[in-house]
This record gives sequence, C-alpha cells and structure tokens, in this order.
Amino acid sequence: MNTATHVQDAIRDVVDLHRNRFELLRARPEPKLGYVSIHTPEEILLAAGAIPFRITGEQAYTNDAAARLSANYCSYVLSCLSEGMDGVHDFADGVVFVNGCDMRKRLCEAWACDVPGHSAYYLDLPGDATDLSKAYFASQLHKLIATLERRYDRKIVHDALGRAIETCNRSRALVQELDRHARSGRRVLSGGETIGVVKAATTGLKDAFNERAAALLGALNTADSLPQRRPHRVMICGSYFDHQGIIDTIEETGAEAICADISNGAKYFEGRVDPDAEPVAAIAAYYLDKHTSARRLDTDVRMRHMLELVRAYGVDSVIYYVLKFCDTNLHEYPYILQRLQAEKIPVLFIEGERNATNIAGTRTRIQTFLEPLIT
Ligand code: SF4
Repeated sequence: MNTATHVQDAIRDVVDLHRNRFELLRARPEPKLGYVSIHTPEEILLAAGAIPFRITGEQAYTNDAAARLSANYCSYVLSCLSEGMDGVHDFADGVVFVNGCDMRKRLCEAWACDVPGHSAYYLDLPGDATDLSKAYFASQLHKLIATLERRYDRKIVHDALGRAIETCNRSRALVQELDRHARSGRRVLSGGETIGVVKAATTGLKDAFNERAAALLGALNTADSLPQRRPHRVMICGSYFDHQGIIDTIEETGAEAICADISNGAKYFEGRVDPDAEPVAAIAAYYLDKHTSARRLDTDVRMRHMLELVRAYGVDSVIYYVLKFCDTNLHEYPYILQRLQAEKIPVLFIEGERNATNIAGTRTRIQTFLEPLIT
C-alpha cells in the first residue's frame, strides 16, 4: 500500500467515528449525555461515568420544531430540536445546555418539555473570563456535579476528574499535532476532513478517537511527501458551520477552506486543562479562557483570536457565514468587517441555512468573490 492510500485510510477511520456515532454509542453500556455547545465541560460528564456527545443537528428541521420555538430561530437550533423530538438520540439519558446564546437557552426549555425521557441540564456561561466569572462558573460546575452524582448514584472524585482531564487533553494534543501541519503550510486535510476529524473528537468515544488520531499521525509522519498549501486560503468564521457544499465550492475554485474559527475547528481543541491545578477550578478556567465566540462580551477578544488564526494559517480572505436569524453573530459583523478591512483582508458575507441544499446563488457569490483573488 502506498503512503498516500495509508494516510487516506487513516483519515477515513477517524472520520467514521462521527459517521457511525449513533450505532457506536448505542452499543456502549454507559449513559450518554448530549450537548450543543463546545463550552460544555466534557471532563465532568466523563468523570460521572457518562459519554458526552455533541448534537450536530444533521437533519433538516421539521415544522413541529419550528412551531414549538418559532420559524425565526437559527436552523442549527431547529435541527437539533427536530432530532430530539424525532427520537434520533433516544439512546441518550439527557442533554447539557450551556448558555451560549438566547436561542440555545430557549432550546433547553423546549427540550425539557418536548423530548420525553431526557433530563435537561443547564449551565450559565459568563461572558468574560475574569477571576470572579471563573469562580462563578466553577460554582455552576459544582452544582452540575452534585446533580450528576444524585442521578448516577456515584461520587465524582478528584481521581475520576483527573483521568477525564488527561483523556480530553490527550485528544486536544493529538488534534493540535495534526493541525500543526496545516499551520506550517501542508495541506494534510481538506476543509471537510478537518471538520470531520473535529466532529469525530466530539462523539465522546474518546479512547477510540485517541487511538485512531494517533494512527493518523503515525501515517502522516511516515508519508513520503505531503501536499503543500494552495495559493489562496479562505477562513470561514461566523455561526455553527459544517456545510460541505460551501467547502466544495471554495475548494473547486482552487482556494483552500480553512475551517479554524468555528466550533467544528480550532475553537474546539485549543489549549489544555491544567492537570496540576484543582480540577473543577481548572476546568472552569479552561472553558472561559478559550471562549472566543460571538457570545463573549468584549468583541475585541474574539477579534484578536480571529487575527491570530489569520496569521497562524496564512489566511488571505475571510468568508463570514451566518445562519439566518443568528443575531449573536450578525450584530458583530459590521465591527468585524471594519477590523478585517483595516488589515486589508477581503471579506464575503453570506447568510444561509444549516442544511440548505439549493445553494446555487451562494455558489455564484463565492466564485465571484474568489476568482479575482486567486492568481
Ligand atoms: S448559530 Fe447563532 S443563534 Fe444558532 S446556536 Fe449558534 S450562536 Fe446561537
């Protein structure tokens, strides 16, 4: 087998974890807890003996979900609720909601009423990372721990938290190592594969993920040669994003889609929880320090992070993709546009739907934006 085939097989093995997640999760005896924000402390759920998995809302949203909330909710939230109401996660015991935006807050309330058999847990996420906010978030985590201890009739001891921190840090380190190739200018993973790897890390099957990601790194390290970066790199920013049609459109122009500044990208695996600090305080500090979403009170924190990514990945232009009705990302756009333009970075704004299939108009806009920029 040549090394390119070996690398492709290893990528597929990792991505398959997400593709086959429901079957794999159903086969596991542990309770499963879903989540919809990457600021959910997976370590605590693992230490409670549960498997934390991200709900990605892959199915088109139903009229029932739109009637329950409102048709003017973002399509990610509506798709998640549709999956819940249709029993797609019937193997799960409950869902942990983090106050990542008002729509997810309302999703928590609708879930508690309309998804029978699931417990709905709620965590308030502060909008900054001051010491006071970290202490407050840690107090929220202690409440969640007490609730999970009652639910599963087991103590969540420091040792269990320590093991969970080690497992999650290992996943982060492996994806960071994979990502090092992209930052150094090698095109190891396409935009869609990058998202696939991150989604695989969020299925909760941590040991399997760590094993497969390590095998992928091994395959890359022994590969004869790796493709080099394309002449133009476009970073996608904005709302929840995993639209393969848009990535394909970008990559068909000859540009490279950099899926870093999204929750299915670098935002998920950045940093590490301090393994030597008191575990709950360390988990609270980690999730607040890495919080750079539009929900953050100070937009400059988000902006600085975005510009760091622009430099780290050698980004040439930005597509700011907002899900329709996502006010959280919409209201920041004028300021972000101004700051990116000041850095002479061309920006294309697109408003779309989570699972839209008819994207002909969007395709034309992306082509028209990129073609003059690609030399
Ligand atoms: S896409 Fe926007 S509105 Fe929807 S969950 Fe994300 S931040 Fe909230």
